[in-house]
Amino acid sequence: IARKRFGQHFLADPAILDAIVDAIDPKPGEPLVEIGPGLGAMTNPLVARSGALTVIELDRDLAARLRQRSALEVIEADVLRVDFRALAERKGAALRIVGNLPYNISSPILFHLLEVADCVRDQHFMLQKEVVDRMVAAPATAAYGRLSVMLQWRYAMEWLLDVPPECFNPPPRVDSAVVRMRPIESPAAVDAALLSELVRVAFSQRRKLLRHSLGRWLEARGSTSSFDLHRRAEEVPVGDYLALAQELDPKPR
Ligand code: SAM
Repeated sequence: IARKRFGQHFLADPAILDAIVDAIDPKPGEPLVEIGPGLGAMTNPLVARSGALTVIELDRDLAARLRQRSALEVIEADVLRVDFRALAERKGAALRIVGNLPYNISSPILFHLLEVADCVRDQHFMLQKEVVDRMVAAPATAAYGRLSVMLQWRYAMEWLLDVPPECFNPPPRVDSAVVRMRPIESPAAVDAALLSELVRVAFSQRRKLLRHSLGRWLEARGSTSSFDLHRRAEEVPVGDYLALAQELDPKPR
């Protein structure tokens, strides 16, 4: 029986599973990590192609079932507490992380992984479609916002496919989509907390000119930046936010 509090919706459509595993294209020996394997819908085809897999599952009963399979290394834990840097060090290679994520904690998972993007080769995730729309959004679109800026700073993002509720058991109430995230090789050297705060302030008043929100914030910091405040937050490209965050950062990086 699916546990609601763990966001359990199990993939049950073979064609979709094939499409996802093809997109991941796992090879033997790769350091593949699956978040929330559940009953193993995706785990099985992944193992068939990679030979071995590390899985992270919080549900004790599901973890016990998974442990019976010798090809799996099972980490029974909350993914938000997993030290992915240590895991990558132990594996001696940048991780390939995949998962049909629990939607109720998808943003915390994305931000937890953002901190270790330098230890990751790529990520393939099933998420709520509305979240994927925000992740891949370009400036001047309705979905462009804080999540777009924070993630596009560190990753090249690619929408792969939409997945309707009927492909899951039990079906979720929302549409889903699969996204690919590849860490950018030399991302702008920016203080993550500063960027996060700046973007939060900027997007606190969508559709208004930035001089209202960000202008006052910059003034309070004594900034003399020439950043153009006669724009709306949703019109400003990611690169401009990164440049401003660098300009405001007193520490060399
Ligand atoms: N991958 C499976 C599939 O596609 O059929 C299950 C996906 S289901 C949407 C999410 C899975 O993540 C469940 O197995 C759930 O128990 C697990 N989960 C929920 N919260 C978790 C957490 N904090 N850490 C690790 N796993 C979690």
